Amino acid sequence: MAREGSVVVIGAGVVGVSAAYCLRLRGWDVVLLDKGEVCSGASYGNAGFVLPSHAVPLAAPGVMGKGLRWLMDPESPFYIRPRLDRELISWLLRFAASSTRAHVQRSAPVLLAMHRASQELYQEWVSKEGLDCDFTRKGLMALCRTASGYHEVLEEARFLGSLGVTFEALDGKAACDLEPAIRPGMTGGVYYPEDAHVTPGKFVSGLAAAAERMGVAIKTNTEVLGFVTAGEKVAAVQTTRGDFRADEVVLAAGAWSPPVARGLGLRLPIQAAKGYSVTTKRPALSPSISLLLGEARVGVTPMGELLRIAGTLELAGLDLSINRRRVDAIVSGARAYVSGLDDMEPVEIWRGLRPCTPDGLPIIGRAGRYRNLTVAAGHAMVGQSLGPITGKIVSQILCGEDPAIAIAPFRAERFQ
Ligand SMILES: Cc1cc2nc3c(=O)[nH]c(=O)nc-3n(C[C@H](O)[C@H](O)[C@H](O)COP(=O)(O)OP(=O)(O)OC[C@H]3O[C@@H](n4cnc5c(N)ncnc54)[C@H](O)[C@@H]3O)c2cc1C
Repeated sequence: MAREGSVVVIGAGVVGVSAAYCLRLRGWDVVLLDKGEVCSGASYGNAGFVLPSHAVPLAAPGVMGKGLRWLMDPESPFYIRPRLDRELISWLLRFAASSTRAHVQRSAPVLLAMHRASQELYQEWVSKEGLDCDFTRKGLMALCRTASGYHEVLEEARFLGSLGVTFEALDGKAACDLEPAIRPGMTGGVYYPEDAHVTPGKFVSGLAAAAERMGVAIKTNTEVLGFVTAGEKVAAVQTTRGDFRADEVVLAAGAWSPPVARGLGLRLPIQAAKGYSVTTKRPALSPSISLLLGEARVGVTPMGELLRIAGTLELAGLDLSINRRRVDAIVSGARAYVSGLDDMEPVEIWRGLRPCTPDGLPIIGRAGRYRNLTVAAGHAMVGQSLGPITGKIVSQILCGEDPAIAIAPFRAERFQ
């Protein structure tokens, strides 16, 4: 393997592990650091959707208004913890300004290309590394109980269809015929056959193990505290377990990226958006495809012997506390659409922090005043899906190549 140089990757979630794996493939000496264990952040317990159907960014028309309507409801899928925080206020103003039709029309084709390229990498890596992670390409159904919900979902599907995404519009009966675990009486659904799902923790841990076999040095329980800089370069990463010197540094610390970047004088407008999941033994009557439950904003994913129900978006800072009321609301939300969840045997309740930028697009690329720093963070609701292609793009940037997908919309400078 040709030697390219040395790199420290900060954060062992799906983004950092994918970057470490791709960089090692390209001949870099890689050290991968995490303050906890491998895959102990948002990449562990998410819904595992790997999808072209989520190419519309979070910042889209109507989202802000809906969020404000939900604010007063303690069981709603969206919540902002009220606080006088300058960063949060500026994030919300930017989010509102980005939520335009023009932004969606500009961003969706790029996001779609990213999801498609990432899904190909999933297929390639799962087969090449023999990853046991329940990767399944059986499609996803966005399911609605109400006519207004169905109208909204169908409108989005038609927009995605105009970009080349395959979908089938189904009435309530056709939705039940396709997925018998759905309760009768739904208004309708949209089926996206190209979508896939994975057990995210198994995928990330399996890929990290493959990277380690290839020579990546993984240092867990190693928290980044700061940096040593020399001129225009980051010379070393200071951690709770000593300093790590390298030619290049990749910041992939998910929702924690802003406090880490601050040590390099770089402001990243990323807010943590907490979500929960409940994983249960697969009930006798269980969905066999992924479901996105429209009005409830809940995802349901079959994962091998298990079934995962995930949802809510709380802008509450870097706070990992568990609000049981919201967890219960996710489960009761799912029960309204899916039969067989009354006798659930939960095996895990989890929460994670999505790293959200105000325009709903990730930050990928060289950033800040130091020439050897690359940021890969801010993937919001779709980081599991976009992790592999992000890792590949990071490796291409460090190798001095043009990335597989034009990354101009993802540059950090757009927020300055
Ligand atoms: C409920 C829920 C459902 C979701 N469903 C989906 C889905 O179906 N599909 C999808 O694509 N996405 C989904 N997501 C979003 C997805 O989980 C995230 O976008 C993705 O996991 C982000 O990956 P990451 O590697 O950037 O961050 P993380 O996985 O959070 O990794 C960041 C890592 O950095 C480490 N770190 C932080 N600070 C430091 C430090 N100072 N020093 C060293 N290490 C540090 C952390 O310990 C952590 O391991 C969901 C999220 C939630 C919460």
